[in-house]
Amino acid sequence: MKDEIGKILQSLELRARKCHRCELSKTRLNVVFGAGPETAEVMVVSEAPGATEDQTGIPFTGAAGKKLDGLLAEAGLDRNSVYICNVLKCRPPGNRDPLPEEIEACRPFLVGQISAIKPKLIVALGRIAAGELLGRRVAMAMEHGTLVDCVYCGVKFKLFITYHPAAGLYGAEAGRRLREDFKKLGAIIEAIRRTTFLQ
Ligand code: SF4
Repeated sequence: MKDEIGKILQSLELRARKCHRCELSKTRLNVVFGAGPETAEVMVVSEAPGATEDQTGIPFTGAAGKKLDGLLAEAGLDRNSVYICNVLKCRPPGNRDPLPEEIEACRPFLVGQISAIKPKLIVALGRIAAGELLGRRVAMAMEHGTLVDCVYCGVKFKLFITYHPAAGLYGAEAGRRLREDFKKLGAIIEAIRRTTFLQ
């Protein structure tokens, strides 16, 4: 099973590396497909690669990556145990918001990743990722720190909504909200571990 999922992800990644379905293929340095174990029960989905990720081809490197590692640790999660990817696999120039047509063009890759991995829990970082997974606009001020049932491409999972870790780099208040959310996430994971999956 593990090998099968690995093969599906590898083949998807190869397709992404050659992808020209949207204009971002003209400006990217690298496709940032995703990283982590194919058997991960927890996935982290963010918006799009930034400058460092574009250079390295690896999600969440650089300052936001360090911040994410720390936040995951607060929730009792090791980065190496979660699968991390973005809604878009190529960097929007200047880190602008993804365009609806780019999200649509790139959707088959996220659908493929979630269908193959079938995570029990997804942590959505920011309104773009949460909005894509829920299929509606997400009001972060109201909805951050909440856990909801979600079905995406026929796969059912719990979705935890929080801010993008980069938000924590720009202010004490945003950093405090992020840490509180991840503390809450840690308690949720602990409760889930006691009752069912997530060993
Ligand atoms: S962002 Fe997605 S759809 Fe656009 S070129 Fe990159 S891989 Fe293809």
